[in-house]
Formats: sequence, C-alpha cells, structure tokens
Amino acid sequence: MNRRDLLKAGLVIGAASGLARAQGGMTPFLPKARNLIVMVYDGFSWEDFAIARAYAQRVLGRKLTLERLFGQGAFGQIHTNSLTSYVTESSAAGNAFSCGVKTVNGGLAVHADGTKLLPIFAAAKEAGKAVGLVTTTTVTHATPASFVVSNPDRNAEEAIAEQYLAFGAEVYLGGGDRFFSAERRSDKKDLYALFREKGYGVVRTLEELQAERSNRLLGIFSSSHVPYEVDRRFQGVKVPSLKEMTEAALKRLPTYRQGFVLQVEAGRIDHANHLNDPAATLWDVLAADEALELLMGFVDRYPDTLLIVVSDHATGVGALYGAGRSYLESSLGIDLLKDQKASLEFMLARLGQNPDAAQVKEAFRAMKGVALKDEEAAMVVEAIAKKAYRPDGVRYGVQPANTLSWAMVQREAARPDRPNIGWSSGQHTASPVMLALYGAGVGRGVRLGLLDNTDVFTIMSQALGLRYQNPVMTEEEALEVLAKRPGAEWVHPKETLAV
Ligand SMILES: [Zn+2]
Repeated sequence: MNRRDLLKAGLVIGAASGLARAQGGMTPFLPKARNLIVMVYDGFSWEDFAIARAYAQRVLGRKLTLERLFGQGAFGQIHTNSLTSYVTESSAAGNAFSCGVKTVNGGLAVHADGTKLLPIFAAAKEAGKAVGLVTTTTVTHATPASFVVSNPDRNAEEAIAEQYLAFGAEVYLGGGDRFFSAERRSDKKDLYALFREKGYGVVRTLEELQAERSNRLLGIFSSSHVPYEVDRRFQGVKVPSLKEMTEAALKRLPTYRQGFVLQVEAGRIDHANHLNDPAATLWDVLAADEALELLMGFVDRYPDTLLIVVSDHATGVGALYGAGRSYLESSLGIDLLKDQKASLEFMLARLGQNPDAAQVKEAFRAMKGVALKDEEAAMVVEAIAKKAYRPDGVRYGVQPANTLSWAMVQREAARPDRPNIGWSSGQHTASPVMLALYGAGVGRGVRLGLLDNTDVFTIMSQALGLRYQNPVMTEEEALEVLAKRPGAEWVHPKETLAV
C-alpha cells in the first residue's frame, strides 16, 4: 500500500491520531509587551542540555544560565511535528512559531499549495516595530527567514537575501557571503552595495561590527555558516561570537520608538548534532548560554520585554551514556570533553582529501584528545579517501563526519578514555523540546506543561497585540498536493565542510 492508498483508507498518521495539532497544556495569558525577543536553539535536545549542564558544573564550576531561566521564568515543552511528518525540519518548525499553523517540511511561511502566510515579524513591522535577525547560520537560513519572508524553497538563499533587502529589517547578522557578494552570487548582483544604498552599515568582521555606528546594520561574517564556537575559541578562527552579534543588535533595536522584535538563533547546534560532533555541540550550546545571559540581563533592565527561549526540534541525538561499575565512570566522559579543541568540520578541512593513518591519529590526539587505535584510524582514512562510511544506514547522513565520530566512540566501558557520548543518528528526531518564557508578565516558576510549537505563535501574537489567523491546511490536503509534485522530496542540505 503506497502513501496515497493509505490516505484513501484513512490510515495516514495524522488522520488516525491527530498529528497536526497536539492537545496539551495551556498557553499563559500575558500582558502586552513593547519588545519581543525569541531565542531559538536549533536542533537542541534534552541530551544536549544534560551534557552542557554537567560540563558547566564539573569543568566550568558554574550553573547554566539556561537552567536558571527554567527556574526563574515559565517553563514547558512543545511537540514539534510538522503537518505531514512527526519529524520536522527547521522551516516547518519556524513556520509553526512564526505563522501559528502546521506546514509541510521545506517552505518558508507558505503552504504546500503556494498559499502565502504572514509571519509574525512581518506583522510586527507593519505595526511599527523594528526587526532584528541574529544567527550563527547563514542569515538567510530557514529559522530566521521563516519569521520575515515567504518562499516555497528554504534553500533559495540568494533570492531570500533579495527578499531581506525589500523587507528592510533593521538588523541582519550572521553568515552567508555567498548569497550577498557580487563575485559569488549566480546573478552577480552586489547585494552589499544595494544594502548600503538603503542606508545600512555593512560589516564583515568583528572589528568592523564593533566600530560601526549606523543604526541599520547588515553583518555577514563568513562564506557560509558562521564557524563553530569551539573553533572560534580554541583555533583562532576570527568571527564574532553569538553574544557579540547579539550585543550589536541590542545596541540598536531599543532606540526605535515603537519597540522591536528580535530573533537570536543558536543555529549550529543542529549542524554539530548532524555531524555527531560532541565538542562542536557542547561549545555552541555554551555560546548560546552566554548570549542568553545577555538577553536575560536586557529583560531585567527593560521589563516590558518578553523573552521566549525555544528549541525547534532535536537532532542527533548525542547522549551521555552510563559507563563503569554503578555508572561511576560516566562523569569522566564529561571531563574528557575538555580535551576536544576543534570541530570535526575544522579537522576535516585540516586533514584534506588524502590523509594517512599517522596524520589522522595526530589530528585526533591534538584536536579531540583521543588516541585512536590502528583500526579506528584506518576507518577514518577509508571514509575520507574512499568514501567508505560507518555506521551504515539511513539514520546517518552527514559523511564523512559521522564516521569520524563513530571512530572515537567509547569502547572501553570499564576504563573510559573518551567522552562516552553516543549518537542514535545524524538526523532530526520527533521528541518534544524546551520552551521557556521570561520577562513581561511572566510569573516566576510558572509551569506551562506540554504545548504545541504553534502555541509559540499564540504567545507572541498575544504579547504583541497582533491577533490574526493564517490559513490552515489539513494533512490530507497537503498530501494531495505533494502527490502531484514530481520529485520534490525535501532533503536536509549537507553541511559545508569548509571552515
Ligand atoms: Zn538540521
């Protein structure tokens, strides 16, 4: 029975079990807020939280700001399914937040039949709010883009850059030079010049970002996504941190008279999880935590601001597994993470196309603190040189990185010599994820229960006093449209491996 037959028989998951919209907790009643900040942890699971929390406690000797937020603000979880899949991707998840309706994976603020949706930041702009987007991915990536523009293809980032120019948000900060530069765009248009003509200060480095005085700002700091925090911190890669980009946005947006809306995205937690990279994941979570501390401090000073902190889905998922007698060695796995000083992306760029076993062993020793055995080093050499990947199967998708991660998985349960973090896949998963609110009208320690990702829209629209309903599509209608669309299966784009 194919999917269409299933549909006719009424056996599609949504038809049978109410996939589209979950019933759970209650959205809180909030007073109107002048400013709204949404911080999205992309691809962030509870396992990531557990590992970062343990690392912060044991190695850094502090508590995560995120943990403090859960205690001081309102706290709950959300279901993440898209309209036609229990496993969402970032554009459908972004649409649920920004438009309040479930959509098919792959499009920005649009239904599968082309019906455009109005994202909340576009409505806020019409109502006079200043708008900011800050992210560690390309600034034109799905999560930020889904809050401001409509496009049937989330990967049409050159077009999305032009849509940003027309939209005219006050602050755009992130990566993605290849979608803005005349030399690198396929149509040779100089988007930087066009942004300057519209009054934007255009900056490309941390120094330029900090020196720039213009109130409207386009900052593009890397060719593709902004390099991982672990590489910025330990390998001397020169880019602004998420906190530094957020600071630049917070210097400008409060000067606008009618308030502002801002999305801050820790966007590469998702990528690090796709690659199964424990250190890249950990340090991007810790970088998000520093940005979060700044945002909570801002809300404390400007209490008419509502801060929403949310994950869009889980990815990976990399979990700390119990090791040793009575699991007593588990914590050692956390301690060993401090010897991991580079991302797999950085390591792969350094290793080049044809490394030998000795070079591989040295790279893992220096950058991951792991002494690979001969057979493990051989596995890495084969993956890079011959595209022979491990582990096998559809759950793994970002190679050769997943093989490099597999090569350094803990194999000595009694005497761990590596972080005992294992990965169930290189893909997104279906689990619920965090939601927390802080600031304007939010009581301390409020429990939100288990909500739906579309409830984030309800909370935002209520806080901004912008009540509207986007058109709803049913799962059955969406599947009818998809069945007629040739070869339009959405596939997660492979992460770029160049630093
Ligand atoms: Zn992803």
